[in-house]
Amino acid sequence: MLKILIFLNCLGIVIILKIWLFFLVFQTNPEFEVAVFDVGQGDCFLIKLKNTTLQILIDAGDGSTQNLTEKLAKEMPLADKTIDIIILTHPHQDHVGGIPSILEEFETNLIIETGVDFENKTYDNFEEIVDLKQIPRLYAARGEKILIGENFVLEILHPFFSKSSQYKNVNDSSIVFLSKFKEKKALFTGDIELEGEKEMLDYLKSRQDLELENIDLLKTAHHGSKTSTSKEFLDLIRPRQAIISCARKNSFNHPATETIQLLNYYQVELKRTYQDGDIIFKF
Ligand SMILES: [Zn+2]
Repeated sequence: MLKILIFLNCLGIVIILKIWLFFLVFQTNPEFEVAVFDVGQGDCFLIKLKNTTLQILIDAGDGSTQNLTEKLAKEMPLADKTIDIIILTHPHQDHVGGIPSILEEFETNLIIETGVDFENKTYDNFEEIVDLKQIPRLYAARGEKILIGENFVLEILHPFFSKSSQYKNVNDSSIVFLSKFKEKKALFTGDIELEGEKEMLDYLKSRQDLELENIDLLKTAHHGSKTSTSKEFLDLIRPRQAIISCARKNSFNHPATETIQLLNYYQVELKRTYQDGDIIFKF
């Protein structure tokens, strides 16, 4: 059992919540892992502290991946039926689609989402299940932080406000967060595009304490679209490795050649789900 501290950002006032998650630690030295699942045109990632039963799921594809719950179970300790935290970066189908069936299969202690208004049947279904199961929800806002034990921190970097509706494009309200275990850092960006990224960049530049340079793993935003991942952004974070999650053939022409060229320019070691399938990053 480890103590979780949640720092809420309520109109600039930081409120600290303490909750206890009952997860097991098998060994004193857990390892930080990110499992990337090939869900075709969509995103699905699992952050794990290996040697513990702590799991955090980020999005779950569009719902068309038949064996996703089996794949997830395979990455979790035997008989563990709890995904401690689910983060829905934004309510588009290629991110929310698989979550309802995961909520049917697994227990969850906390949902983090944007709460942004968006018409989507799957999202409505997701909300119904969350309400029915009375799963606590946290609306993401910049500055919120979750401390898990002594070494694991998850900090929300975007959007600026919770229930953020100031962006014309839902993608720009995507949750962007940094997950840090000891010195290792992974940055998840949802489908944020250039307008949201530009606004976030000004904030990130003021946060020297985050030590964003040389990020160990970047989840490339919006499936490698050319409308995300600017040179200025890469200049700030200089990732060592990056992942692009998309289908080999998709109507959006993801990933963009320009984005791949830019990542190559920064000598980022790049993996792509449509080429590499499921991938496990170990830190
Ligand atoms: Zn997407």
